[in-house]
Amino acid sequence: MKKRNTILILGIISILIFISVQVFVLRGIWRTKQEMFDLRYKLLSQEAVSFLNRRYATDGFDTARFMIKGYTEKFVKEQLPLIENDSMLQARKQEIYGVISGILNQEQDLSEFLSSYFERQRFEKNFNHMIIINSLELVNFDERIPVFESEGYANRRPPQLARDTAGPREKHSSEILVNRFFTEDNNYRIFFDYYIDFSDKKTLIMKETAASLMMSGFSIIVVVILFLITYRNLMEEKRLSNLKTDFINNMTHELKTPLSTITVAGKTLEMPQIRTNESKILETAKLLGKQSIHLNQLINMILEISMWERTEFQLDRKKVRIEEVMNDIVESFRSGCGNCASLTQKYNFNGVATDLDLVYFTTLMNNLLSNAVKYSDKDPVIDIEGFTEENNICIRIADNGIGISKSDQKHVFDKFYRASSGNIHKYKGLGLGLYYVKKIAVAHGGDVTVSSKPGKGSIFTITIPY
Ligand code: ADP
Repeated sequence: MKKRNTILILGIISILIFISVQVFVLRGIWRTKQEMFDLRYKLLSQEAVSFLNRRYATDGFDTARFMIKGYTEKFVKEQLPLIENDSMLQARKQEIYGVISGILNQEQDLSEFLSSYFERQRFEKNFNHMIIINSLELVNFDERIPVFESEGYANRRPPQLARDTAGPREKHSSEILVNRFFTEDNNYRIFFDYYIDFSDKKTLIMKETAASLMMSGFSIIVVVILFLITYRNLMEEKRLSNLKTDFINNMTHELKTPLSTITVAGKTLEMPQIRTNESKILETAKLLGKQSIHLNQLINMILEISMWERTEFQLDRKKVRIEEVMNDIVESFRSGCGNCASLTQKYNFNGVATDLDLVYFTTLMNNLLSNAVKYSDKDPVIDIEGFTEENNICIRIADNGIGISKSDQKHVFDKFYRASSGNIHKYKGLGLGLYYVKKIAVAHGGDVTVSSKPGKGSIFTITIPY
């Protein structure tokens, strides 16, 4: 149990490590793809900007510049002289910033040009643009009036200009810087950056990494499945090896009992007082005969099963009336080891005849009946019921014995399996009886099933086609 848990824990840890490595690798791939994506669009957009410059001698902001020029000229001339104090100027700065950033955003032609350029190159054409003003100044003759300066810009330059609150929104890492613009005119100076941002960038990258994602997911699934299969095989091997050990113990126990009886009987016959007593000799001889038959049966069963492993199951089938066969088997069982049991039979076979190997079928029935007696902790009551159903003959053997737990029911037909492994010597056996039953039923084209409740009894049902 401890070893089993260790294997399971080690396996789970290895799988977790494997998954972490996969996640780590995938994150690396994702980051690289993202960088490649940004680089691709950065290069492409810069190419577009230089094309625009060469072909049309513009950078896409001519209209905007023209409008800003008009606005600032008017402002400097008409409004600035009216501003009386610093707080009035502060309030107007907010307005100037708003108007100019509005003009830059609405009156630029770069976005439209980039979009059609991307489309022509068969790239994604839907993006959002973003303009970040780094610094903005009004220029009044020799005097520079700072309107806005972003924090980053202030860090790069000596702090002559005060930072204003009217700042733009923060730039995110997903946005791609296309170009930086610096414009100086009679009435203003502006320095701004133009960014583009693909809102469905994640989906686009996801499409590109889909193969790696799928491969990685697939390899995780394969590793988990392989682990489960290996673990199951290991456990199965362990179970079989335990069964084998149990079988050897049981067999030794089973063989020892008749052997020691035979040894004792032999010793008894050597005694002079026994040799003169004819009835004692007869009794001992009978005991010897019975025990050697039992020993013979045990050895035959083991030999037969090992023969089944190597050769095909050979049946010698004959047409028989099932009701008559059942009556014979039950009667001889009643007079033999079933004499302590109360047996009832109820048949409704409608006189059907079926092809059976009588020897094997009798063994099958005897195994089920003797188990019903053996696995009982009170006076055994056995009900045998027979009927036909969909071209099958069905025989149901119900007992009032100790029953079989749900988990054991799955294995009772396995070779060497003994349900009462904790209490193995209380009920003698080799774990071969039901294996035998199943083999014989299947060889006849039928099957055997069990339903049982521990403490209440068991019902075994044999079905054989007729
Ligand atoms: P064996 O009787 O030699 O152990 P079997 O193959 O006949 O082997 O049975 C396998 C196991 O199934 C038994 O060890 C027993 O625990 C359980 N079993 C079989 N028949 C019955 C029954 N009628 N009632 C309760 N348990 C049963």
